[in-house]
Amino acid sequence: MSYQAIHEKLASGRLVVLDGAIGTEILRRNVTWADHQLENQPALVRAIHQDYIRAGADVISTNSFQLSRRAIESHFRDQAHRRQVGSADLDGRAARLLDASVKLAREARDQAAAGRPVAVAAAVTTLEWCFRPDLAPTEQSAEREYAEIFETVARAGADLILLETVNSITEARIAAMEAQHAKLPIWVSFVCDEQGELFTGETLESATRALEPLGVGAILLNCAPPPDIAAGLARLAGRTSLPLGAYPHIGRFDPPEWLFTDEYPPERYRAALEPWRERGASILGGCCGTTPDHIAAIGSLA
Ligand SMILES: [Zn+2]
Repeated sequence: MSYQAIHEKLASGRLVVLDGAIGTEILRRNVTWADHQLENQPALVRAIHQDYIRAGADVISTNSFQLSRRAIESHFRDQAHRRQVGSADLDGRAARLLDASVKLAREARDQAAAGRPVAVAAAVTTLEWCFRPDLAPTEQSAEREYAEIFETVARAGADLILLETVNSITEARIAAMEAQHAKLPIWVSFVCDEQGELFTGETLESATRALEPLGVGAILLNCAPPPDIAAGLARLAGRTSLPLGAYPHIGRFDPPEWLFTDEYPPERYRAALEPWRERGASILGGCCGTTPDHIAAIGSLA
């Protein structure tokens, strides 16, 4: 229902505003991001979603960065080791937190959207680290793991999947097929390098050709600085019939957290994204380092 309104907005060429960062926004509000704060500080997570809705976001994305069974199990030698030394609830933790992330976003919408259609996108990243396509799991594992994640977020009531920071065509294709099985719309957002290509060396143009037949709702670019995203958009513009979108990061990756810089205050951020709208981007938002003020600023590009 909520996705239908977004779909119609895209079909009529109007701007769809995506939200900004949530993980780094939790940090910026002086709270550690450990365990995503979904269970310890749900009110904080809800408040950030609400701030993005009030800033004009049509789509809000869940606080679920790399919440997966794999991410938890990767800390252990194997399952037996996890059972031996890990805390008792780890087996179901990823599913429980994913479920909570969707429910918090839905609650925020109920409280703040004031009748405006706002869609809740389940934010899902690559199964292994987003910047390391060389670590990607086998296709068979990826199918099973995406199926499990998508079933969980579908049951929790997500309106769509936002597959983010994708680094390879293979993983995008597998996720798109699993989203079809889960009967959820999916947007696929790739991370690109300064040449505007994928980290695997594959081209964005071949990515669109692989995804167009799979029912993908939009192709986006995210989690790179504005100039790199601009390079990727230049490669995509005019080469696909799918709606295009972009949400760059600002600041610097400072593992495991984020370094905020003052390079892109909201007005400069808006100015950087403005030409992208003319180049065909119909979905704009923000990745790491962006705030509700950045999202409010891009609303005027509609
Ligand atoms: Zn990012």
